[in-house]
Amino acid sequence: MRPGYLAPLAALALVVLAPGCGQEEGQPRRQAQLLQPAPEQINILLITIDTLRGDYLGCYGQEEVSTPVIDRLATEGALFSFCVAHNPLTLPSHANILTGTDARTHGVHDNSGFRLPPEAVTLAEVLGEAGYDTAAFVGAFVLDSRFGLEQGFDLYDDYISSAGTPDLLQAERPADEVVEPALRWLAERGEEPWFAWVHVYDPHVPRHVPAPLSETYADNLYAGEVSYVDYAFRELFDHLRESGRLDSTLVVLTSDHGEGLGDHGERTHGTFAYNTTLWVPLIIRAPWRIAPGTVVDRRVRHIDLLPTILEFVDVPVPEAAEGESLLGLLAGEGGGEPAPAPDSYFEALTAMLNRGWAPLRGVFHQQWKFIDLPIPELYDMSRDFDEDSNLFERRAGTANRLRTILRGLTESEESGLSVRRREDSETRRRLQALGYLAGSPQPEREHYGPEDDPKRLIGLGARLDECAVATAARQWERAEEILLAIIAERPQMTITYQILASVLTQAGRPDEALAVLEQATEMGAGGQTCLFQLASTLMQVNQYERAVAILEELHRRHPDDLNAAHLLANGLSRQGEARRAERLYNEVLGADPTFVDARCDFGWHLLRENRFDEGRAQFDNALQYDQEHAPSHHGLGLIHERNQRWREAIDSYCQALEAEPDRHGARLRLGMVLARLRRFDEATAELRRFLAETDESSEAEDRARALRVLDLIRRSGN
Ligand SMILES: [Zn+2]
Repeated sequence: MRPGYLAPLAALALVVLAPGCGQEEGQPRRQAQLLQPAPEQINILLITIDTLRGDYLGCYGQEEVSTPVIDRLATEGALFSFCVAHNPLTLPSHANILTGTDARTHGVHDNSGFRLPPEAVTLAEVLGEAGYDTAAFVGAFVLDSRFGLEQGFDLYDDYISSAGTPDLLQAERPADEVVEPALRWLAERGEEPWFAWVHVYDPHVPRHVPAPLSETYADNLYAGEVSYVDYAFRELFDHLRESGRLDSTLVVLTSDHGEGLGDHGERTHGTFAYNTTLWVPLIIRAPWRIAPGTVVDRRVRHIDLLPTILEFVDVPVPEAAEGESLLGLLAGEGGGEPAPAPDSYFEALTAMLNRGWAPLRGVFHQQWKFIDLPIPELYDMSRDFDEDSNLFERRAGTANRLRTILRGLTESEESGLSVRRREDSETRRRLQALGYLAGSPQPEREHYGPEDDPKRLIGLGARLDECAVATAARQWERAEEILLAIIAERPQMTITYQILASVLTQAGRPDEALAVLEQATEMGAGGQTCLFQLASTLMQVNQYERAVAILEELHRRHPDDLNAAHLLANGLSRQGEARRAERLYNEVLGADPTFVDARCDFGWHLLRENRFDEGRAQFDNALQYDQEHAPSHHGLGLIHERNQRWREAIDSYCQALEAEPDRHGARLRLGMVLARLRRFDEATAELRRFLAETDESSEAEDRARALRVLDLIRRSGN
């Protein structure tokens, strides 16, 4: 069922917008709307099903996919036929839901490079303060606690087992492994009211459908995942029904975004913002307030969920929240026509941030949807929900009006994009294992042309996705092959050179990466992103002077770009300009105290200055933000060694290597310390592995040291 196409929905007993409106003048609103006495204590269950398109649920008119558990919730509660997300991406979208604000306020624009800031107020924080027990159960690494959504939860279960699974699978866990601990937690609840958020990830790629659904849905694995997820929730709802608690529980079910499934040329989600990915299902069940079979046809937004949930339980909505409670809408307040839907902002910036494509921002206003791109788009939602017919040329007046509205929505935003950080390699690897882009940061440019429009680039995007999969699997040659083929076809697209350079760097071929980037700059790709990447590659091949010259210029032109400032500080430190480096580190960390890589690099700078205690403080601090930050463990190991605390040193090196197995420097130190402690067998194993994983060209000196120690061990008769 789609908005504006309500007719086919014959299976449901429809009560459109009208339950419980026997409200009389002067009566308190709250009591007038009750259908039955409100439970003394209302519990809250928020379910987000990742990547679930509205039109794949039975209750939304889908006949090919079996989703009886969710359909039943809809018949017992309210179904919203037109709920929209503000981002077609997991982390930003969940930040929208959990804070009631969108990315313009909370600043989380992509899955990588952003954290929900501590000052954001989350639903869990508000409910926790109101006396609720709170718990979250999440199904994928992209919502790992490191990204900041854990704020306010007593329990944040983001445990993603990686035992024995290949790399590509380890960043998610199947729905039954998420629902099971949630069910256990619910069963243990006592007197206090509770709030549980359960996030399942299965419909997202990669798709692994368990038998026997894998046979039923052999032709459409996406549908199979949706059906499996529905099945996984059966036991949880059975439990709530049987224990008599379902009718005192406010159930809110939605998804973070949909899935392209090939429509508009988009296979997955994130690049575009068509209704295939922005339109999400929304079902709310609360039998004391909502008549069974209610359908709300007016457009609603993700940011409306937080105020709605809080109004349901009579907890004041925090001032920062930007959405509006939907309770009045559910109760058909005012009778007749509901108030017009408020405008809804949306954005899809991941292709801009990671690939340098044009940024996508847009707005829903009345029946219109405007997408601001170099080739702009305007659609009439009341007639063209599938967005087949771009009216931008024909309705220029309307389009301009919407563009003005959108400008009004975005001009107060201090871009917020410049705070984007470089993810450490482990985080990047795990995000890439989920198929997410996590490239080097690409700041927003001043001008984008039609050649940068994602509509023109989406075909290449599919091949770049293939390249991202190869990169995640560390198949560098395969990735290189794909990129060279794209370059042969479209040599003018400079972004490909940048991606190729990043692949070559990760493959341990920084000199070749440098040559590729120099070629790209000669072709005129001298933008901020390309220069940043060039400087960062120069640093890797120890050409600090050239790197610093480029970074000084970038920093002068974009003083807010913390990534450039951070890299400049590193370059200055390497060049021995200790004072300026220190001042810059302090500036960067003053602007973003949670910038873990910068904090850790400051620690390394202090080590080079022989200021060990201060260095240690920076590493300890970095590890508070990210316990698995390998370079910080590595730095701590060196300090322990210096203080002859051998066991602690070994421990730090082991932690560094656990987080980042190819951190060769830490492996060499580990081998040396073990040898010093005469643990020769272990030392030999580590040093041999170090030699096997490094090569003569880049680590000749360290290799010579390892060989000398191995020789000593051999000669001492071991
Ligand atoms: Zn998602």
